[in-house]
Formats: sequence, C-alpha cells, structure tokens
Amino acid sequence: MINFQYARAHDVAEAVRQMGADPSAKFIAGGTNLVDLLKYDVERPSRLIDISRLPLTEIEEAGADLRIGALVSNTELAYHPVIEKRYPLLSSAVLAGASAQLRNMASTGGNLLQRTRCHYFYDVATPCNKREPGSGCSAVTGLNRMHAILGASEACIATHPSDLCVALAVLEATVSVAGPAGERTMPLGDFHRLPGDTPERDTNLARDEIITAITLPPRGFASHYTYLKVRDRLSYAFALVSVAVGLELEGNRIKEGRFALGGVAHKPWRDPSAEALLNGQEANETTFAAAADALLREAKGYAHNTFKIDLARRAVVRALTQAARATPQSQAMKSIR
Ligand code: SF4
Repeated sequence: MINFQYARAHDVAEAVRQMGADPSAKFIAGGTNLVDLLKYDVERPSRLIDISRLPLTEIEEAGADLRIGALVSNTELAYHPVIEKRYPLLSSAVLAGASAQLRNMASTGGNLLQRTRCHYFYDVATPCNKREPGSGCSAVTGLNRMHAILGASEACIATHPSDLCVALAVLEATVSVAGPAGERTMPLGDFHRLPGDTPERDTNLARDEIITAITLPPRGFASHYTYLKVRDRLSYAFALVSVAVGLELEGNRIKEGRFALGGVAHKPWRDPSAEALLNGQEANETTFAAAADALLREAKGYAHNTFKIDLARRAVVRALTQAARATPQSQAMKSIR
C-alpha cells in the first residue's frame, strides 16, 4: 500500500475542482473495487477525493423518467419500490451481482466504473496493456476462460464485469456527468468503450468528470423481462455469460424486443440488427435462435473460452423464452430484506 492524501468534497463543483487540480487523484465512493486495486498496487493515487457525502443519493421521478443519483447504493437501488415495480429487470440484475455486504457499499455510479476482473490486470508482475499501455496482453496466450468473445482487440480481450450495466443497456439509460465545462449526458451504450488500441480507457468519461446520475426512460418492460446470469457458482461470482431481456408482446407476437449480453465483451453487448429479427415475429424458439445467431455471428473464442460462444447462444434463447413466458430468472436466493 502506498501513502496518499485524503480529501473530502462537499459538493459536485468542489469535487470536479479538486480532481482538476491533481492529475494523480482518484474519486472514492463505496471503494468496493478501488480498495482492491490499491491493495494489489494496480492504482497508486496521490490523493483520494471522498465523494461519498455528495448530495447524489436520491431516486426521483423526473416527468415520465426516473433519475437515480450516482451515490444511490446498489442495495437501495435493487429494493426501491419504484424500481421493483417499473424496472424489475434492473432490480434483478443488481441482486444477481456481488454479495449483500458489497451491494450495501457499492454505488450506482461506481458500478459503471468498475474495472475488469482479468486476473492479469490485478497481477502487477505480468504484462497488461490496460494497466501499463504497451506492455502486452498476458491473457491472449494465457488463461482466458473468463475473457471476451466479442469486440476484443489484439491489445486486450478483457470483459466488463457489471451486471447492472447490462440491464441499463436494455433499458436505454442515459448517464449524466459533470466536469469543468458543466454538465452533459450520454447514452449508456456510448459510455463504455471497446479496447481497440487504448484498452487503458474503459469509458468515455474524462478524467476530471464525475457521474452525477443515471436516468431511465419510461419503458421498463415490467411484464416481460429477465436477467439470466450463468456463472461458476451461485453467489459472489462474475458472469461467464449474462443476458438481459425486455420484450413487449401483443398476444404471442413480439412488438419490440431488446436484449444484451454481459460477460462477453469490454462493454454490454447489444446489436440492433439482431433485435430487428425479433420485432413482428412470433415469440418462439425459432425466432429466438435466429436472433441469438445474429448477435453472435462475429464471436471469436480463444484457447479456453470458445465454449462461451455456444453458452451465450443457448443463454440468449433461454432468456428470451423466460421473458416471453413472464417467468423471469428468480433472484430469491440473493434477496435479503
Ligand atoms: Fe490486460 Fe486486457 Fe490483456 Fe487482461 S485482457 S491482460 S486486462 S490487456
């Protein structure tokens, strides 16, 4: 562990100002990922700017939208009555992740910013382009069972570990951020980046910007949804593959279908051309299999993760079936009230 200074920000403008004044500073809220990164010597900030007391803890209806403050904890988010009623997909995805203790500490904004769980990223004795640009990628020829099958590059094949973000992608959430130039919003789909030649950049958030809120548009797919997470053990494990689905049905015909994959790419993976194969079609296995094949048509496996391609295809069909039947994946085992 290295020495660092600690400072507390009392409002968003002060947080942005403090960050702008120190290029080696880091924001800390729940710290559920950052403290690990400090302990593993992956992050070496000169200063931690504590933003945990900023007034960003409300969930508020804003017209037909729902605005979630960036510091709402994952637990508050999952069990909020409006979320459970209007956006049960979001509640289900949050409960599928981590442990109750971590969900109590983890913030909504921090969930978007968590780093990959690639083990080489956390092992500072190994080359990793994300941790040290230009050093190489140990995972390409190493142990890559958990790694990407879509959107990877030669520089990095890491995946984004969030469950929440996969649901946010389907719900077409927007992210509000504040920086020295004021506030701006961006679609969740544009927030995370593919690795390309710059895997050290996970998101399109500037270094001196801070997430202030996540906004959900009105459509929540509360009748036909599921969050299906496939992992090595039931609890406290990251997804090998996850699928978030929202369907709007007329009888057994799909009026609108959205689905996204988690655990397979550097960002939640959605493809409008695959979703177009659902719209107007009967909700049946043939339709679902065609959409799954389209979503995975450019999937590429590495030495230890080729199984994820077929796993993802099957998980998509199963998740679409669950959503169409209104029998979402139960998270009852994860729910603690
Ligand atoms: Fe680093 Fe990405 Fe390669 Fe993992 S996959 S070792 S995070 S460059």
